[in-house]
Amino acid sequence: MRDINHFLGGSSVVGNSGRYGEVFDPNTGAVQARVQLATAAEVDAAVATAVEAQRGWGATNPQRRARVLFEYKRLIERDINQLAELLASEHGKVVADARGDIQRGLEVIEFSCGIPHLLKGEYTQGAGPGIDVYSMRQPLGVVAGITPFNFPAMIPMWMFGVAIACGNAFILKPSERDPSVPVKFGELMMEAGLPAGVLQVIHGDKVAVDAILDNPSIRAVSFVGSSDIAHYVYRRGVAAGKRVQAMGGAKNHGVVLPDADMDQVVADLAGAAFGSAGERCMALPVVVPVGAKTAETLREMMLPAIAKLRLGVSSDTQADYGPVVSAAHKARVENYIQMGVDEGAELVVDGRGFTLQGHEGGFFVGPTLFDHVKPAMQSYQEEIFGPVLQIVRADTFEEALALPSNHQYGNGVAIFTRNGAAAREFAANVEVGMVGINVPIPVPVAYHTFGGWKRSAFGDTNVHGPEGVKFYTKIKTVTQRWPSLSGGGGVTDSSFVIPTMA
Ligand code: NAD
Repeated sequence: MRDINHFLGGSSVVGNSGRYGEVFDPNTGAVQARVQLATAAEVDAAVATAVEAQRGWGATNPQRRARVLFEYKRLIERDINQLAELLASEHGKVVADARGDIQRGLEVIEFSCGIPHLLKGEYTQGAGPGIDVYSMRQPLGVVAGITPFNFPAMIPMWMFGVAIACGNAFILKPSERDPSVPVKFGELMMEAGLPAGVLQVIHGDKVAVDAILDNPSIRAVSFVGSSDIAHYVYRRGVAAGKRVQAMGGAKNHGVVLPDADMDQVVADLAGAAFGSAGERCMALPVVVPVGAKTAETLREMMLPAIAKLRLGVSSDTQADYGPVVSAAHKARVENYIQMGVDEGAELVVDGRGFTLQGHEGGFFVGPTLFDHVKPAMQSYQEEIFGPVLQIVRADTFEEALALPSNHQYGNGVAIFTRNGAAAREFAANVEVGMVGINVPIPVPVAYHTFGGWKRSAFGDTNVHGPEGVKFYTKIKTVTQRWPSLSGGGGVTDSSFVIPTMA
């Protein structure tokens, strides 16, 4: 059995907890490796290593830090095919999609290569008589990231790309379900010239997460995962005096107005609802057609599109999507399908009981379509995170706008229309953090910023882009005065009044 070790202080380290997590091959259902699960003491030792490593790294000039990232980018591009295959074999997504997962993370590395410019700070000459003011952004020190299974490449790079560029040392606690690619990232960063200990990867479960949240030398924590755990991480981290950004779950809606290009809508929905088996926080699992005619047309057109979908193992280059991540998750998705039936929604296509010939043990769930889903249903209110599309019919634009706005989650939303005024009004008023206009998966590019609203995100700073730089740095503002060259001014009297610019 393959063991997946920690990556600490620049090398592979066997853990000493005696506890392991099982890493499955979702295509077959077999256990393919075991991953170490760290103790709190192991986390604390990694933090001590990071504290040491950060001193030199934080003092390294930004251009040199950027050079390491440039080289890392080159190495990832060199190895992207092997990395994508490894990722797909643990996650279950198809290899082309795994390559996209890596590529989207790499785009944050590209953004982070601009760190000399991003850290330039601000300067005001002559803010008062002989007084100049300037600000600088300094690294926080040691920061940590805790990441979910569904983007084992992109989400770690959202975090460590920016954090390391800013001069921090970073401790990554990846998902224990697909932990191999994050370890490779640690190795490739070393090969790129990053000093040992600046990026460490420690595997674990709640024990490791709690140790990260409690360790006083960790100044900030980035978390991405499900909402209850995001909320827990946020509360515990903030109580320990840390900066915390904690992204949670989602239930994204696609609103379809009667004038939308329906062929495009159906193509977009098939990819956004079923791609990666629906295991994306920016998937579109709810579609809201406005008006009965739009709903009927959409339903009619979705059926052949669903029938055409091809499920396959993650290495199948013809497959549209692969298995879900685990047997437990497959059972969870199927339970939600049953819940929808019990609640009275119409099950139009049932993906339960799907088996792939030759891979009967794989965690496959067929594409599933519900119609006449109502806002009061629990299967609508909660995140399913599987290949399940729910049609919630609306009579008016206002009703359609209210659905995502009133939902507990507010990660992403899309509107499909040819009407610019309607799209504009929708984008301005919807209570959701990321909006697509005829764009089904509106994940912002790396130099903008990613983050949802409501129970999709706790904390007030988004990830990557300029917000990421803010999150991983603290600002220091210097007000300076120098004696004038002409000798004027001399010693001024003590002032007991707060200085003002009056
Ligand atoms: P998860 O919440 O189960 O796990 C996320 C991380 O938390 C993992 O590293 C895990 O080890 C750790 N963890 C699990 N249980 C814990 C506990 N009890 N205490 C402390 N830590 C714990 O999430 P997942 O199943 O890996 O990922 C899927 C979820 O992530 C979905 O809800 C999805 O919407 C969400 N997600 C959100 C975003 C976003 O940006 N908003 C992006 C991707 C995924």
